[in-house]
Amino acid sequence: MATLDIRIFPDPVLRKEAAAIKRVTRKTRRLVEDMFETMYAANGVGLAAAQVGILKRVFVVDTQESPEERQAFINPVVEILPPENEEELSELGAEGCLSFPGLTADVTRSRRIRVRAKDENGDPMEFITDGFFARVIQHELDHLNGVLFIDRLDAANRQLKLMEWEELLRQAEESPDLVGASRPEPGAGGGQDVPREDAPV
Ligand SMILES: [Zn+2]
Repeated sequence: MATLDIRIFPDPVLRKEAAAIKRVTRKTRRLVEDMFETMYAANGVGLAAAQVGILKRVFVVDTQESPEERQAFINPVVEILPPENEEELSELGAEGCLSFPGLTADVTRSRRIRVRAKDENGDPMEFITDGFFARVIQHELDHLNGVLFIDRLDAANRQLKLMEWEELLRQAEESPDLVGASRPEPGAGGGQDVPREDAPV
């Protein structure tokens, strides 16, 4: 296994649409393993292949909340479902992104989704989920289409977050020794691809 280089915004690869994986092979499984390792090394809870420069429709997630919430998704399809109770169709929640270390934003996502995908063995899977797991899956699915969490904000907020991001990049450039320090500590939330629910953000 190996850790891969995570692409940082505005790397153009983050804006490209990823291609479907025609056949799940040993190479796919190797990529999935490397992506999990890269995600854990960066204290993330999700990572899409585009974030390591590979334009294939695959992402990995581990919310660390239950073993079922550790999963590789190949060629995923997500369908938005109506909520079960009187809840709203969507909800606002804090997110970060490994391609924007240090930046967080409140993003609206659908509450309840049905996911169809293949796992790293090429076996089809289908399930319905909600809450944080559903949020992370939607964030990662966006990456496969070149869509980033800042795109989900209204124009004024997006502008604000982009300015904040430029400032973070400038700080990192001015003090190269601080580049490591600009990646938040585990649990700080900012550097994770979608912060954990219990992370202070
Ligand atoms: Zn992300």
